[in-house]
Amino acid sequence: MDISVSDAGEFGLISRIRARLRSGESVLLGPGDDAAVVASPDGRTVITTDVLVEDVHFRRDWSSAYQVGRKAAAQNLADIVAMGARPTAIVVGLAAPRDLPLEWADGLVDGLQDECDLMRAGLAGGDVVRSATLSISVTALGDLQGRPPVLRSGAEAGQVVVVAGRLGHAAAGLDLLRAGRREPAALVDAHRMPTVPYAAGLRLAAAGATALIDVSDGLVADLGHIARESGVRIELASDDLPLPPELVEAALALGIDPRSWVAAGGEDHAFAATMSDEAALRAVAMLADLDGPVPFTQVGRVVAGDAGVVFVDEPPPNLAGHDHFAPYS
Ligand SMILES: [Mg+2]
Repeated sequence: MDISVSDAGEFGLISRIRARLRSGESVLLGPGDDAAVVASPDGRTVITTDVLVEDVHFRRDWSSAYQVGRKAAAQNLADIVAMGARPTAIVVGLAAPRDLPLEWADGLVDGLQDECDLMRAGLAGGDVVRSATLSISVTALGDLQGRPPVLRSGAEAGQVVVVAGRLGHAAAGLDLLRAGRREPAALVDAHRMPTVPYAAGLRLAAAGATALIDVSDGLVADLGHIARESGVRIELASDDLPLPPELVEAALALGIDPRSWVAAGGEDHAFAATMSDEAALRAVAMLADLDGPVPFTQVGRVVAGDAGVVFVDEPPPNLAGHDHFAPYS
């Protein structure tokens, strides 16, 4: 029989979680006191939060605890990077049903910790409560390291729109799971936990991104945020959307237009930016310097006109984007 979190008790669970944590370099004082102490050398703190709820954002039969942990941390760390900041720490709230297996909590913490390690961020503290519904709330902190934050409002006519990272993989994975498939693993796993190109995001900021966002709701929806906040029009071309063969193959199997995944699928947390042509050339050179290759594509242009995103050719079907209130299954 599985040992559950209620068998361990609140304090037993907390000490078990603490034993699994490694310290982050900015965490001056981690879990164990009334609050944590996190260094913020810049003097300004970037902060963001996200909540994941079972059967709204994840299913325990589709994703392991470890994958949910990776994803919960990744969403928040990506938002910090999308401001041009380096993540320093996260704090986590876990609302757990009494019968949640202790092993599930272990996996969750390992996933959170491993994702934080990618950015040398620390898991600085948290809280556990009993709840009928399993949910995980993560708050992340970041440091601007002396640079201005990169906002959604900085795009200007004449600039290019670029994307670093993958588009449409997580959406393809979710559609495969919905269709009862577990293959190809690369796509299904992209839904279970994103591979966020954090270093590429920071390099886009350093190269001179005038606006930056992580693609969480879908390329068109997220570029729409930039267009509205900047008061510009963004022109995309369906024909210029990156279509890797693995997406085309899965789309053929499901009878779906793969460009819909690329244009409207969220949760891959690629980084979309606007910048000048010269900055884009700098970005190409800076990304070529990364350890692992990250796809980098110009997907459109910023022009003057009514704020919004338009296609200059036939748009892909089903561009609604990710709706946080849509049924998950
Ligand atoms: Mg975001």
